[in-house]
Amino acid sequence: MNLTSYVQQVSKEDFGKVFRHEARWNTRLRTTGGRFFPKDGHLDFNPKILDIHGLAVFRKIVRHELCHYHLFFEKKGYRHKDKDFKTLLQQVDGLRFTPQLVEKVQNCHRYRCLLCGQDYQRRRRINTHKYRCGKCRGRLITQ
Ligand SMILES: [Zn+2]
Ligand SMILES: [Zn+2]
Repeated sequence: MNLTSYVQQVSKEDFGKVFRHEARWNTRLRTTGGRFFPKDGHLDFNPKILDIHGLAVFRKIVRHELCHYHLFFEKKGYRHKDKDFKTLLQQVDGLRFTPQLVEKVQNCHRYRCLLCGQDYQRRRRINTHKYRCGKCRGRLITQ
């Protein structure tokens, strides 16, 4: 995916405005989904958002950053606390806060101890002949 052309597309489709700068992936972003740099007008995006939450959520993050971007160049209130920002974000259905960046538990394998009933969830399949319950050493069965 060419990030800059994607942001150009979202800007055109959701704002009816042209995005004239560059968008870059930034793997050092931890809890934020994106960042706007008023100094040179570029946007940074966190690739984890796309990985974990998919394109629909990522698009809302792009809208959020584009709100900062367009309002700044139109000399309007582009900060989170500004009314212009809040109004525009609502109009384009952007995300106000970054969603949790903890990986969702997917395709989880569930096991239960035959003796004490303790439940376990593991990302990978485990060998129930080899692994025993961590509490009581009982046998595990697949649920
Ligand atoms: Zn923001
Ligand atoms: Zn047990």
